[in-house]
Amino acid sequence: MQPSVAPGGAPPWWLEEAFAAEGGRVDTEPLTGDLEVDVAIVGGGYTGLWTALGVLDREPSAAVAVLEAEFCGAGPSGRNAGFMEGYWPALAELVDLFGAGRAIELAEAGEAIRPAVRALGDDVWLRESGMLTVATTELQERVLDRAVAAAAAAGRPDQAVALSRDEVAERCRSPRFRRGVLFPDTGTVQPALLVRALRRSAIARGARLFEGTPARSDGAGRLRTPRGRVRADRIVVATNAAMTDWRPVRGRLTVFGSYVVLTEPVPGLLAEIGWTGGEAVVDARMFLHYFRTTNDGRVLMGSGSGPIGRGNRIDRRFTHDAPTAGRAELGLRRLLPGLAGARIERSWGGPIDVSADHIPFVGTTADGSVHFAAGFSGNGVGPSYLAGQALASLATGRDDRWSSLPLVRARGSGVPPEPLRYVGGATIRRAILACEEADEAGLRAPRPVRAIAALPRLLGMRLGMR
Ligand SMILES: Cc1cc2nc3c(=O)[nH]c(=O)nc-3n(C[C@H](O)[C@H](O)[C@H](O)COP(=O)(O)OP(=O)(O)OC[C@H]3O[C@@H](n4cnc5c(N)ncnc54)[C@H](O)[C@@H]3O)c2cc1C
Repeated sequence: MQPSVAPGGAPPWWLEEAFAAEGGRVDTEPLTGDLEVDVAIVGGGYTGLWTALGVLDREPSAAVAVLEAEFCGAGPSGRNAGFMEGYWPALAELVDLFGAGRAIELAEAGEAIRPAVRALGDDVWLRESGMLTVATTELQERVLDRAVAAAAAAGRPDQAVALSRDEVAERCRSPRFRRGVLFPDTGTVQPALLVRALRRSAIARGARLFEGTPARSDGAGRLRTPRGRVRADRIVVATNAAMTDWRPVRGRLTVFGSYVVLTEPVPGLLAEIGWTGGEAVVDARMFLHYFRTTNDGRVLMGSGSGPIGRGNRIDRRFTHDAPTAGRAELGLRRLLPGLAGARIERSWGGPIDVSADHIPFVGTTADGSVHFAAGFSGNGVGPSYLAGQALASLATGRDDRWSSLPLVRARGSGVPPEPLRYVGGATIRRAILACEEADEAGLRAPRPVRAIAALPRLLGMRLGMR
């Protein structure tokens, strides 16, 4: 299905709103000349800015520079859906990956995310209404059951509360929703307001920000920019999908597109379906639909089913892929038929840095001078705070609870090299999509398609069909 509004034609609505609140976008000056700092951070999205703040918390007098290729919010931090989760919703998968003790440690660490966002003190439209995962098929109900069982086994049943069909309907009514799970330790934000609040805070705390300043390595402890050079004791790379082909992370990342459509304000229709509590909602597919409301009663519906990237190219497939925006719109019409009359006003997409096990990793290069975080896999709004704390501890040489989070790991499962990554990934993506669409239609995909969709799990990756 073609979307009513093609993606890529206009900027993400969030950014427009955020710049309007600032009275227009004003960038800092790019770096010119030579600069010497204690910590240089490449990338001014959530991860880079949380890291800058984290370094200054630990060492208030440290000289910190953030080098941002475009402006803070140019990447996914300014265009995502604003679901802010920690790791309680992923507990079952974390237990498989890290064992129960470390999994619970990570989920508990995530409880610090919302207080940290509150402590910024800016209005970022933080709504702490929880996230509802709904099952629309019998197969999806199994995902819900696993989440509830994992929280119960961890002694924290309060972190994954099973909801009956009626209880789901009290929060958001749809004939498609069978039952659900509420994850209370989650919320939503206006994503661009969050990245701009972090930017303001980092500048106010003394970090030097250079926008319009793409940086590349120029040897150990050195960076080169178009009009300047930086020497730094420690370097942090927080460039998200742009680092896919960088040697230290190559083989651990794939990039997929994710797209959203945004409706006109429809507060009346939201009242009719009872969706007025601000809950974020996702279905339990792997290429999931994610949907939320805005302060002025719009609905944003996203689909994580975008195309896979080729090599390290961040190209138009992440901003102009009409079929994926079309799937997001189809999801809106199918999952929320009560909103059939809501007109789509905007559509946009962006790249998602996907790790083989869907959990981010924080690491350090072999010579110890560069730290990095990537692999947020579509859940970076909250976890970028954890990664930022870990990076800040590593960059200031601390051995503490942040630098020993389970996310800090030298190794993780890998993804195949190119061209196999692209060819295999695209084939598997198509097979998973076919399986999930067949499941939603009450059918089973043909056996060979199911076999392809199950391949990643057989290879030890946390992707694909169970
Ligand atoms: C459509 C969409 C919906 C999403 N929805 C959600 C959601 O609801 N919840 C959630 O948790 N996550 C979501 N995500 C993922 C989330 O947005 C990301 O995980 C998160 O923003 C990552 O932050 P970051 O700072 O690591 O990366 P980015 O925001 O990409 O920041 C990296 C920055 O580095 C800069 N950069 C790149 N190369 C260089 C260079 N050489 N020199 C200097 N700067 C450079 C870029 O310009 C960019 O500003 C979504 C993503 C997309 C695309």
